[in-house]
Amino acid sequence: MPYSGSCLCGETKIEVSSTHNAQIACHCTDCRQTSGSSNSTNILPLQSDVQITGAVKEYNSKAASGNTVTRIFCSNCGCAMAHKSKVFGDKMAVQTGTLPDFATIPFEAELFCKSKFTGLGPFPNAAQKDTM
Ligand SMILES: [Zn+2]
Ligand SMILES: [Zn+2]
Repeated sequence: MPYSGSCLCGETKIEVSSTHNAQIACHCTDCRQTSGSSNSTNILPLQSDVQITGAVKEYNSKAASGNTVTRIFCSNCGCAMAHKSKVFGDKMAVQTGTLPDFATIPFEAELFCKSKFTGLGPFPNAAQKDTM
């Protein structure tokens, strides 16, 4: 397994079996609220390459696009693990904060830059997009 990690309390584990050389930051309102921070950091592996185990909960919300987004989080400590949406096809977004290896993997894009917190400059070499 190239990447593995866990939530804050350790009850939920995640493993991603595909290799990723870049990640994506998202500054949308939903990502801010669910991450409790200025943005989320994500990769988009195939759902079949992701294993999340533990007592997770799911929460469905409507994105700005009208699509339903299913957020997967640890039911014990609330840590955001991943989210699914029809727009991702057979992939899913995995929040990389649970995966220590992503501390040194660069960003290829920033999404929803129009809602970015003030004072945050562009990430080096990351495409700046105002929507997805
Ligand atoms: Zn937990
Ligand atoms: Zn977002």
